[in-house]
Amino acid sequence: MNSANIYTLTGLKPGGAAPPPGAIPTDLLIGESWREGSSRRRIPVHNPANGEVITTIADATLEDCMAAVDAAEKAAPGWAATPARQRAEILRKCFDAMIAGADWLAHLISLEMGKALADSKSEVLYAAEFFRWYAEEAPRIRGEIQDSPGGANKILVQYQPVGISLLITPWNFPAAMATRKIAPALGAGCTVILKPAIETPLTALALAQIMLDCGVPPGVLNVITPLDPGPGCRAIMHDPRVRKLSFTGSTAVGRKLLASAAETVLNCSMELGGNAPFIVFDDANIDDAVDGAMIAKMRNGGQACTASNRFYVQRGVAAEFTRKLAARMAATKMGDGTDPATGLGPMITRKQADKIAGLVDGAVAEGATITIGGQCPDSKGYFYPATVLTNVPPTAAILKDEIFGPVAPVVTFDSEEEAIRLSNNTQYGLVAYLYTGDIKKGLNIAQRLEYGMVGVNRGLVSDTAAPFGGVKQSGLGREGGHHGLLEFTECRYVAVTW
Ligand code: NAD
Repeated sequence: MNSANIYTLTGLKPGGAAPPPGAIPTDLLIGESWREGSSRRRIPVHNPANGEVITTIADATLEDCMAAVDAAEKAAPGWAATPARQRAEILRKCFDAMIAGADWLAHLISLEMGKALADSKSEVLYAAEFFRWYAEEAPRIRGEIQDSPGGANKILVQYQPVGISLLITPWNFPAAMATRKIAPALGAGCTVILKPAIETPLTALALAQIMLDCGVPPGVLNVITPLDPGPGCRAIMHDPRVRKLSFTGSTAVGRKLLASAAETVLNCSMELGGNAPFIVFDDANIDDAVDGAMIAKMRNGGQACTASNRFYVQRGVAAEFTRKLAARMAATKMGDGTDPATGLGPMITRKQADKIAGLVDGAVAEGATITIGGQCPDSKGYFYPATVLTNVPPTAAILKDEIFGPVAPVVTFDSEEEAIRLSNNTQYGLVAYLYTGDIKKGLNIAQRLEYGMVGVNRGLVSDTAAPFGGVKQSGLGREGGHHGLLEFTECRYVAVTW
């Protein structure tokens, strides 16, 4: 490693993470080398459990962003020409290396992002799976051939690498959101520039070093960390050598990037925000539904695009479901995510914890009742407790906005039609969950929910082999599965006479 600035993991708890890997680079990865950044400015990275600075990272200037495009361009022809099997073998090595380092990577995620160690460990395993999955998919990009209907020629269709791709990722899954883009992009033969979230850059930087160590050639993966992402990303997107934006983040930022992409008609894949309903019917197994609700609500402390944002529970089981869910949520230990005993870590920032408090207070002012939680503890960390609300009025903002925290608003309904209407009444369409003992009813209702993904008797839908993505204002395109690979290809048609 040639990074001038490094961070060494410290504070590993006994019984927690495995020994640290040594040094994590904290500079920019451009081409073959780690660089400090032309301004020499540094950006602090905070520990959300106590507000303290963990370390600093390089601030990328416009010049650095353009250098990353130069490096990606230089590496592009060689990488596209590298046989798919060879690309796949490098991806497979990345999978093995992530699995070998799963404990320290999990610790690093908990440290900078705050989530409970068990959640971080699950994320590392999920993130690593994208390397394995795309190592298997990369050699299987098939083409098509057919006779033209008039019989004069053949129609030959090939899927080729789309080209240099800008990958922008959020802070809530700093490993998985990166590998869900990097692995298919590299598998398809593209070179990339990764722009991780400034709140959680260390995981991406550690992953980049792992990938270099596994043989990813210089320039194939570049990592930039500008404090203000606007100007640099705009310049990259408007550079004619760049052919793709793959973005995961909020709908608000996604809209801005789509508007900017429209100026050069840039190919875009967008994974945006959600407002997931979690529907429980009278005929559901309530204990199973509570298990599913705990995953859908409490994984990552509720800071997931797939987090259930609204619980719609049929009147006959509402009291039992709410009582059992509240008991499980109240029993979740809140604390520093790096402590193995913690079930609920801090929120990512003070601002985010305050936003959640505002949504809860607003709902209470409109008539909602707090069953558990609802009070921010006095702490240097950005904590918000597990909270259950009942009697939430339909007008409350908490049912419309992404809460992104451990708060479960419960609303009672009477009929199937009402549950479907309430669930679809949103600009979002990422994921919905439903629990019923009647699978035929469940599958029929799943068809009528306007969502890209539906969990039937499951509180978790994420799967490397499945197409992940939303409809409406939750996004464009899919990640995961074979679909995720095709997002990084361009379809070329050749008309042939032979
Ligand atoms: P965000 O939109 O604030 O930021 C996402 C990324 O975009 C970050 O890297 C950020 O630095 C960058 N960014 C912000 N403004 C930019 C600009 N003008 N130009 C270029 N880049 C810019 O989102 P966040 O707070 O990091 O993440 C939470 C959001 O992400 C939630 O809305 C969540 O639902 C969504 N999310 C969606 C998925 C999905 O797969 N659909 C997955 C995870 C998170």
